[in-house]
Amino acid sequence: MSQYAITNPATGIVEARYPAASDADVDHALAATAAAYRRWRTTTLTDRAAALNRVMDLLEERKQSLAETVSREMGKRIGDAVAELDICIAIAGYYADNAEQLLADSTLDTSSGGRAFVRKTPVGPLLGVMPWNYPYYQVFRFVAPNLMAGNTVVIKHASQCPASAAAMAELFADAGLPDGAYVNLFATHEQIERIVADDRIVGVSLTGSERAGARIAALAGRHLKKVVLELGGSDPYLILDVADMADTVVQATKARLGNAGQSCNGGKRFIVLDHLYDQFVEQLTESFAGHRAGDPFDPACTYGPLSSAGALDELDEQVVDALQAGAKATVGARRSQSPGGYEPTVLIDVPTSARAYYEELFGPVAVVHVVDSIDAAVDLANDTPFGLGAAVFHRDEALALEIADRLDAGMVFINTREGGGADLPFGGTKKSGFGRELGPAGIDEFVNKKLIHLP
Ligand code: NDP
Repeated sequence: MSQYAITNPATGIVEARYPAASDADVDHALAATAAAYRRWRTTTLTDRAAALNRVMDLLEERKQSLAETVSREMGKRIGDAVAELDICIAIAGYYADNAEQLLADSTLDTSSGGRAFVRKTPVGPLLGVMPWNYPYYQVFRFVAPNLMAGNTVVIKHASQCPASAAAMAELFADAGLPDGAYVNLFATHEQIERIVADDRIVGVSLTGSERAGARIAALAGRHLKKVVLELGGSDPYLILDVADMADTVVQATKARLGNAGQSCNGGKRFIVLDHLYDQFVEQLTESFAGHRAGDPFDPACTYGPLSSAGALDELDEQVVDALQAGAKATVGARRSQSPGGYEPTVLIDVPTSARAYYEELFGPVAVVHVVDSIDAAVDLANDTPFGLGAAVFHRDEALALEIADRLDAGMVFINTREGGGADLPFGGTKKSGFGRELGPAGIDEFVNKKLIHLP
């Protein structure tokens, strides 16, 4: 059962508690979203875009206080929290501006006679199960395309983000969305089972752990509902032939330490060809040593505490396990002096027997491997249960493209760290999940691609 509360990640002190939804609240939410869908699906794209534009204005107006809320809830550095809200504004703008083109009819050449086209129509109310690492961004990439497509949404946010969840619900209501088009529910896991089973909910999107993804996908499968899953990653960065090692190290540092290392698509494993290995390890170590966890409200700190005491313990256990299995740390490998934080850590010589070899490290810990060939780099990159993103650093772009083809990943960035944009599809393969968010693909997941045939 979920306990919705704000727990200061630096101290572990519970600062506010939020009551979980009652069963009557769940009934009301389901009725409201179903009723709203009947009206919302008939609105024009212009009406929907106008609503999202009002949401964007409110995000802009409330940016500072929304940012402070997540810094308090999960320890995100205040500057990063503001940047997250800018991305939300960009996502809402992208779908408001482009939905007409993205949802346009596509005409088919048909040999059977007559005329035929495919029209994308809404499917109905959806459930979004959301994580704490980007409390606003994760919601926006689910909600913005689906509201534009004519669907309505019920959000079950992470139990550690109740204030940002409530603030978003308020924001959508203040923007004039009809009651029920966006519903926030502090639902328990048991209530989520009932919601997934309910006929009024037609699909589910979850971002979070493999455990939660498997649970929700199994439930949805039992009730024949479509699911989009965006789960973890252990993204490899293949450092093979670089023009500017200093710049590569800057990119690697940002890829690993951003959001205190708590991004599904953070660069986590650095796979380096032998002639560059010593130089890379030395420079990455030096770079990491120049950063430390701090107070998230201090604009000068690189990152704040990990999201919770539990997350910090888990990361430390993974590092201790790696060291016991024979790995070495060139820097860090301990909790930081700043409460709740972990020192930037570089692990080398990590054997396959260590948890850190196969598991996702959701914190500021980089694993660096050495390889003696490009083939070995590709094999090692793919030797993971995950398949979210990857980056290839090689001066020969044609060769880098060939290597990208051989990687089991949903996204490959070449000669740059992984980034994102409202117009770029995001998602993975293997245990990183299935389906896509953002870009044209993101609005295609929950639409009925309806064939219309005329004589
Ligand atoms: P979870 O997967 O447990 O939480 C994500 C969301 O799923 C939350 O809203 C959570 O609700 C909900 N949830 C979890 N289990 C169920 C269930 N049985 N029924 C209904 N809802 C459920 O993530 P954790 O916070 O435990 O993080 C653990 C690990 O997951 C991280 O260390 C990281 O590896 C990965 N992760 C990946 C993310 C990504 O961006 N891909 C984001 C967050 C985590 P509640 O809070 O109420 O339990």
